[in-house]
Amino acid sequence: MAPQRILITGCNRGIGLELVHQLLQQPNPPKQIFATCRNPNSPQNQKLNELAAQNPSVVVIKLEATNSNSIQEAKKEVEKHLHGAGLNVLINNAGIMSDSRPESADSEDFLNVYNTNVVGPLLITKAFLPFLKKAAKENPDKPLGCGKSALINVSTLLGSIEKTPETFFSFPVLSYRCSKAALNMLTRCQSLEFQKDGILCTALHPGWVQTDLGGPHAPLTVDQSVKGIIKVLGNLSENHAGILVDWEGNIIPW
Ligand code: NDP
Repeated sequence: MAPQRILITGCNRGIGLELVHQLLQQPNPPKQIFATCRNPNSPQNQKLNELAAQNPSVVVIKLEATNSNSIQEAKKEVEKHLHGAGLNVLINNAGIMSDSRPESADSEDFLNVYNTNVVGPLLITKAFLPFLKKAAKENPDKPLGCGKSALINVSTLLGSIEKTPETFFSFPVLSYRCSKAALNMLTRCQSLEFQKDGILCTALHPGWVQTDLGGPHAPLTVDQSVKGIIKVLGNLSENHAGILVDWEGNIIPW
């Protein structure tokens, strides 16, 4: 994949933290990894802070996805560190899931999940878009992909309407499903809008993974999922614009 500069949201635990960890181990690691989290100084952030202390390429940035001021502050901070360079890859990874079923769902939960999983990625992408455009301009001869400029929205199989009959009764999580279906639509629209700027936009399903969100019974370890994700990211091309792919590179129908 070899993106020079990458920003990932939700890096204090789970898939985000492991992405930072494994990107650092690549033969050709990124020059800069902007790893965002909500509370850089909290004990929950200890593992990320340790990675940053050992690797000067990791820059920890405070970002609360539901707060536009926080997103703007994060943008300013990243801009300082970029020193005029572009950002090759933005991974909207931060997300939440809650218990929500058709007979008990409530508006507060629905709005909260939508705000985090859809409005957050929308506003974060808007904020960092100038840097993604810049990276595309810096690499005019490179093909569409993560080596040039890419937006990756971390979605889920559970957001696929076509696959819902296969998954609904095991994972009802209504507010989460609806939010990720909306994120899929957002990705398709962003892809159509930003392809002219040389930015690849793809939705990514990381598999069912053993994290706080995925729970202990998930079949995949974070290590396995992230190994797959990094391989997939490296192989993304114009064929993946505006679609949902999984951690093994399989295309998931909307
Ligand atoms: P975790 O629950 O382990 O981590 C979620 C991350 O998102 C944390 O860093 C959390 O930060 C952050 N986050 C949540 N809300 C916000 C917010 N408002 N602002 C900023 N950061 C926030 O989840 P995973 O690592 O498993 O999930 C990562 C992504 O993968 C999610 O988008 C999820 O939907 C997706 N996914 C996961 C699957 C799985 O099986 N695990 C399956 C399919 C998709 P904090 O610690 O501060 O809460």
